[in-house]
Amino acid sequence: MKAIAVRPGTPSSVHERDIPAPSLDRIPDGKGILVKVLKVGVDATDREINDALYGNAPPGDDYLVLGHESFGIVEAVGPNVRSVKPGDYVTATVRRPGGSIYDKIGTYDMTSEETYYERGINLLHGYLTERFVDHEDYIVRVPQGLKHLHVLMEPMSCAAKAIQQAYEAQRRMKVWSPKRAFVLGAGQIGLLSTLVLRLKGLEVYTLARAKGPHLKSSIVEGLEATYVATSETSLEQLAKKVGKADLIIDATGSSSIAFNAMEALGHNGVLVWTSITGGKHVTEISSDKINLEWVLGNKLLVGSVNANREHFESGIKDLAMSEVMFPGVIGKILTNPVEGLSNYKEMMRLLVEDNSALKVYVNVADE
Ligand code: BGC
Ligand code: ZN
Repeated sequence: MKAIAVRPGTPSSVHERDIPAPSLDRIPDGKGILVKVLKVGVDATDREINDALYGNAPPGDDYLVLGHESFGIVEAVGPNVRSVKPGDYVTATVRRPGGSIYDKIGTYDMTSEETYYERGINLLHGYLTERFVDHEDYIVRVPQGLKHLHVLMEPMSCAAKAIQQAYEAQRRMKVWSPKRAFVLGAGQIGLLSTLVLRLKGLEVYTLARAKGPHLKSSIVEGLEATYVATSETSLEQLAKKVGKADLIIDATGSSSIAFNAMEALGHNGVLVWTSITGGKHVTEISSDKINLEWVLGNKLLVGSVNANREHFESGIKDLAMSEVMFPGVIGKILTNPVEGLSNYKEMMRLLVEDNSALKVYVNVADE
């Protein structure tokens, strides 16, 4: 069957190739699920992998099948599968467990091992192909009524985890009740984080460079949050005007912005970093000032990567809630479909060159 792959370590090596079709009996205990791929989303991680800044091939292979944002339909299941049946829509988690205690209890997103296994990213092949099989533990059902949001399930799981981690960590405060949040970046993670925080009732300011009105600002406003163009109002100016934030999510992909965000966090607050930055950028920060303010203010910084099944499930519930509270808004993220796996060059071109492409995804097959 067809697959889109790269040769990790070789820049711009994205190509189409033929790979063996998967079979259900590769998965033990009769717990295999065979999924026909319908759509796959791509993001900055795929771009960095194609730039050879990130990612590794599975041992024994010199290629890595791309794609970690999956949406498909169940074609067949092993005899012991109970959670889905043929015809159900599904997505799949990305990381697979290593050997640490965190991996063993289903929280593989929190592995304490240096080596991590992620389908389509690191050491495991991804979903940009016609079919895949996996164990029931890693396949998550997508409700029929959310099929129009298809490839958003995986990015939503990462946003759901980031915010869940913030709340979990803030139990240290005993009575933490955040009122104001800043979300830095209005890419998919920024917008989905905006949604989760709005559903929790926070006053949310979502920041991105370009002055509106444009698609991103209309999505932010559709979620009843405030869009702030940093070309007009800097983060510092915003914090002066409305007050520092109780919670900040950085999803800009810029490590210097991630560090600068430390100056906009209020007392007892939490800052969550979600970006993967594969480059070598060096930045200067006001370290004395930040050190002083962070100690005097009991502030907390948390890194958040990936997501486990629980976050997929809570993310899917929030997407359902989104369609009730803000009908039609979140689907506007899905801007740029590419027809068929063979159009992978167009997929990469949109990802690299088209700044207006908020979400690029491949229509792999019809049902
Ligand atoms: C993926 C995550 C993954 C992370 C780091 C992101 O693009 O969505 O699932 O853990 O990259 O590899
Ligand atoms: Zn991703």
